[in-house]
Amino acid sequence: MGRKFFVGGNWKCNGTTEEVKKIVKTLNDGQVPSQDVVEVVVSPPFVFLPLVKDLLRPDFHVAAQNCWVKKGGAYTGEVSAEILVNLGIPWVIIGHSERRLILGESNEFVADKVAYALSQGLKVIACVGETLEQRESGSTVEVVAAQTKAIAEKVSNWDNVVIAYEPVWAIGTGKVASPAQAQEVHFELRKWLQANISPEVAASTRIIYGGSVNGANSKELAGQPDVDGFLVGGASLKPEFIDILKSAEVKKN
Ligand code: PEP
Repeated sequence: MGRKFFVGGNWKCNGTTEEVKKIVKTLNDGQVPSQDVVEVVVSPPFVFLPLVKDLLRPDFHVAAQNCWVKKGGAYTGEVSAEILVNLGIPWVIIGHSERRLILGESNEFVADKVAYALSQGLKVIACVGETLEQRESGSTVEVVAAQTKAIAEKVSNWDNVVIAYEPVWAIGTGKVASPAQAQEVHFELRKWLQANISPEVAASTRIIYGGSVNGANSKELAGQPDVDGFLVGGASLKPEFIDILKSAEVKKN
């Protein structure tokens, strides 16, 4: 089954109104492959979501960077899935390593968030990935499998889930995983989906790579058979994001 290339731009906690408008203009002016070739989602901070949604070209979509774990209410400082749906935000990133590690989100908490967001009709970019220590101790596959298993225990329909494999040691460090390293983990994740969920889910679920992707390394990474796109941090704030989107063309050949 064909998996459409997917590229997300995670703007993290960056931007002023003027900077956000400038990034959107660059995106709107960019010559990129058609929607049949690449699905594009950008994720500004919550407060800029309505502005970006209004200004952004119609073939690109927006994602929130997080949402609350259950129905909204007396949870000061949180933004619920219902609020995102009400604003017409189709996607949410859940389980980014910055939230897992800095804010202490556990595998179970992330899984609850994924399940709740899906139940409200959001589409989810679910992040998994190992730390440097875990990689060096040889437990990469075990770590990402445990993160995925926690989600699988709470989610039965994977149609609206994209898995982002983001090795923590590669995020924001300029130290990108080699194409072979990325392919190896993506292959293992797909194998895990096949064995533990179903061959159909394994064949259709997009597994995207994140960690220091840029305009210079994206083409080779995109050439790996199990790399179905990217989640991009730093480079998504720059014009080179357009070059990353163009790497989707590799899949056509
Ligand atoms: C990210 O934050 O998801 C990410 C991959 O960041 P960067 O591209 O800057 O490494």
